Amino acid sequence: MRPQLFIRKRPFPAIAAIILVLLLSACAKREEPLYQQQLLTFGTLLEISIWGADKRLAQQASSQIGADLQQMHNDWHAWHDSPLTRMNQALSAGAPVTVPASILPLVQKSVALSRASEGLFNPAIGRLIKLWGFEQDDLPSGPPPSPAAITALTKQQPGMNDLILDGNQLRSTNPAVQLDFGAIAKGYGVDLAIARLRELGIQNAIINAGGNLRAIGKHGDRPWRIGIRNPRGEGVLASIETRGDESILTSGDYERFYDYQGKRYHHIIDPRSGYPATGAISVTVIADDAATADAASTALFVAGPQRWREIAKKLGIMQVMLIDGKGRVAVTPAMAKRVRYEIDLSPKVTVVPLS
Ligand code: ADP
Ligand code: MG
Repeated sequence: MRPQLFIRKRPFPAIAAIILVLLLSACAKREEPLYQQQLLTFGTLLEISIWGADKRLAQQASSQIGADLQQMHNDWHAWHDSPLTRMNQALSAGAPVTVPASILPLVQKSVALSRASEGLFNPAIGRLIKLWGFEQDDLPSGPPPSPAAITALTKQQPGMNDLILDGNQLRSTNPAVQLDFGAIAKGYGVDLAIARLRELGIQNAIINAGGNLRAIGKHGDRPWRIGIRNPRGEGVLASIETRGDESILTSGDYERFYDYQGKRYHHIIDPRSGYPATGAISVTVIADDAATADAASTALFVAGPQRWREIAKKLGIMQVMLIDGKGRVAVTPAMAKRVRYEIDLSPKVTVVPLS
């Protein structure tokens, strides 16, 4: 039997969300109709905040969401026996496969987002992810794979363009394609969780799956306020008040990594080199839905300080904050209007238009 909740074997504080929901205790003098629940599911810490709903409804909604996300985790797992691993076997054999209904939207969204990001978001590089050991629940400790093993995979250039999707029939023209939806699945799961809340009549909530966050409505008479974690230190670097329905996601090199002989190897891989992407250490984006924001934050992280603006434009993402290895912060004008810095960053911040 599968465990009810999938727990990544890492100490709890280490998987604490990249983005924190800031709840202003100063305003919590009277009893507030705020329901909060934390669950370990989907291989991460899931935080549910619901405002203004009947407590029993909120409880019912959060246990439903916990179960939904656990089901998605099982369906979309790229390396445990799952509908996705069975699909991957067929793809590498060049055989046509019927895409299960739970996976089809992920394939469709990924094809479009991969194309728009010029393949920097590339869920077809599952073999590379596995070679690096980042598919495991436990973090690898190194050494990194050999350059020859990495080149052997990158030169086969697996990409979403190798897929032929006709309705729900999928085939790959490149046997090196292995789908791993690690860079979009949590975002999409959050979207489905928000849809579930709305179905249940809940209009004010935040779903945060390990830093993949979507907020709807408000926290009473004020907006929800979200904190962006400092990538190289404790606490919150900046905060953002959400408007209506928004997704705020961060990809960082501090989420899953190991150090080997003084060098950091993290889990966001540049599909061109086969190595962890260099240049950025944290990318936060705001978008309408969490799946798009998830794929986009990964793509812009890979694009790095040189190319993120170009790729953001192609993806239609206007609100971006990128922090580079020297701690310099680049924000788009649209993002600059939204963020409030919680520590003094003024000498390090540059506002850069997308074009
Ligand atoms: P997180 O899971 O920490 O939110 P991301 O959304 O950036 O971070 O996703 C990273 C995961 O996505 C990796 O663990 C891996 O499974 C997969 N991945 C790594 N590099 C890429 C890439 N360039 N394109 C698509 N997926 C990737
Ligand atoms: Mg992502």
